[in-house]
Amino acid sequence: MNDNIILKGKKVEDILKEAELRSCPVQRVLYSLTEFIKEVMCGKCFPCAFGTEEARIIAIKLSQWVAGISEKDIDSLKRIGLNMVAGSLCKNGKDLGNFIADTVETSYEEIKKHIVEACPYEECVNIVNYIINPDICNRCGECFRICKYFAIIREKNNYKKVYISYEIDQTKCTKCGECVEICPENAIDVIVNNRNIIEMIGEQ
Ligand code: SF4
Ligand code: SF4
Ligand code: SF4
Repeated sequence: MNDNIILKGKKVEDILKEAELRSCPVQRVLYSLTEFIKEVMCGKCFPCAFGTEEARIIAIKLSQWVAGISEKDIDSLKRIGLNMVAGSLCKNGKDLGNFIADTVETSYEEIKKHIVEACPYEECVNIVNYIINPDICNRCGECFRICKYFAIIREKNNYKKVYISYEIDQTKCTKCGECVEICPENAIDVIVNNRNIIEMIGEQ
């Protein structure tokens, strides 16, 4: 073997085996996508490079019970999987696409419970919301610039030509935490949603 070649990353079949250890189909899809993007995806073809990102956002929203998530998103998840099967350049993308489409097909009703009730396996929880504290926020805009999901809303004072308030759109926020990391004032609070915790504890 050439010593200059650094072998790294997992094989797709190992990622899918690890994903299968999860009971919840949303968590299986989310895990497989997250690991695939990190360990395998090379970005050479559109259906895989863009499909995996788009599908991962949908899976995050399903797992976190984000408001506005609907059956259309579940259908989109399956469509992305099928597009990856049809259009990916290599077997890795096709295998992952097949796994996603197959999981949606066979577990549709369980996935649907994530939009009407909650995760039937209690593996997905929506226990936090990210909120900007207006008393501490200095309106620097760092959170707006870093948020990949366009979840930060800012209001401009047209007279003074400055932004006067920053808020987080909970329907778009994926709870990735990047804004919390970058905020120089520690102005973004992570609020625990007690209702969901109480429901989880009550069902145990
Ligand atoms: S399908 Fe294969 S070639 Fe295309 S981006 Fe994914 S890993 Fe790369
Ligand atoms: S990064 Fe922090 S201080 Fe800056 S606008 Fe966002 S919340 Fe406010
Ligand atoms: S937690 Fe992530 S998605 Fe939510 S507002 Fe912050 S950067 Fe955007």
